[in-house]
Amino acid sequence: MESALASPTSAPAPAPADGGVRAYDVAGYHVKVTYDPGSSQLEGDTEVAAEATADLARFDMDLALTARSVEIDGKPAKSFAKSGDGSVTVIPEEKIEKGRTFQVRVRYDGNPGHDNPSWAKSEDGSVITVLAPVGTWFPGNDNQDDTADFQLSATVPHGWTAVSSGQEEPVRRDGAWSTFHWSSTDPLPANRALLGVGKWDVERTKLSDGTPLTTVYSAGRKGEFKKYADQQQKMMDFLTQKFGDYPYGTLVSFFLDLASDDVPNLASQGAVIFPNAEDERFFDSTVVAHELAHQWYGMLVEEAHQRDMCLSECFASYAQWMWPEFSGQQDLDAKYRQEIEQYKSDDEFWKQKLSDGAGVYTKGPIMLHALRRQIGEAAFGEVLKQWPARYSGKAPVWAEMEKLVQEVSGQDLQGFFDAWIRSDRIPEDAYLWPGTLKPGATALSRS
Ligand SMILES: [Zn+2]
Repeated sequence: MESALASPTSAPAPAPADGGVRAYDVAGYHVKVTYDPGSSQLEGDTEVAAEATADLARFDMDLALTARSVEIDGKPAKSFAKSGDGSVTVIPEEKIEKGRTFQVRVRYDGNPGHDNPSWAKSEDGSVITVLAPVGTWFPGNDNQDDTADFQLSATVPHGWTAVSSGQEEPVRRDGAWSTFHWSSTDPLPANRALLGVGKWDVERTKLSDGTPLTTVYSAGRKGEFKKYADQQQKMMDFLTQKFGDYPYGTLVSFFLDLASDDVPNLASQGAVIFPNAEDERFFDSTVVAHELAHQWYGMLVEEAHQRDMCLSECFASYAQWMWPEFSGQQDLDAKYRQEIEQYKSDDEFWKQKLSDGAGVYTKGPIMLHALRRQIGEAAFGEVLKQWPARYSGKAPVWAEMEKLVQEVSGQDLQGFFDAWIRSDRIPEDAYLWPGTLKPGATALSRS
């Protein structure tokens, strides 16, 4: 455990026993960083505007790098010290009273990738934050409920590009360096603010609803990756039709060749990242549909607990089924039968309980297809739209989903959900073959 004293004049603050004092509400982050891919060093100068939600004799901010100075409303803090859990404890000269707004300015530096797998790096020095913990590259509040405006100025050597979340503003060049400006169009929690620095090709287009779409390609890979990127507009039309209006003001997509197997594809607010688009064993257009679907199922509505991850992953995985269906390439009932055929004798497969967050990528979409046939097209379509609309910005649990489905369908689905969500064995035939999935039903309807 590291407990370095950051300032020679400061006394170490007592280690917080309660995970730290974060009794403040951030209104905005004004983040300025200079990043040198050659040395992997980042220098930061970040202003955080916040309001005290209790009297603050001291407070903590998440920051994994080394703070060099801390000012509150333009005056040096009485003291500040790094605490072991990747945060900095600040003691102001005078207590900050509850309800007061205040401005904290932190200057800091370090190698954000040191010992940090969430700062993914490619051989040429390109980096991108993937699910970076709060404080990886700017001081923030790790409270997920604390959404704030976000503005970034990122200075990188000429020839490099810095990309973040939100709206891009004009680039300023100064000798050997270029400064990129990004500002959020929607408030976001600190861990959803992203930073990528690379030798990249950037393409700027618009979705059909006018939303600016920025697509980023690893240098020299655009020709190859464009076939996936070009499907995004149609996919977003399709997802908008299924889930409702796109919830954010901008969309940024990264198609990269980091060539690192341990970096997963992922979604952040208003952004999707494909770190290994060159690997056709794991990458195809349905993967793009999966991550885009997370803008609704995962970002707009994020589950309260890890065990409820079916709320985002089952649905994003089912978007992977629905996209080829939409583009006319797949009969989903046939796919469903194949999947059941493949897994019917596989006890390990059925042992995965969706209620524990297990099997969400595989059993999850199978369950949702059965649910669709159980409640019918109209009700299923209604559920897909109602969920993001009703729980926007909230953190629901799985039980809320069951409630919504029963309400929309008017069916008692206790047995269905027990069999598919909470059971550790294959569902009995009534739940395994609902509606048109019943053996013979499709043949009948085709004749
Ligand atoms: Zn996912």
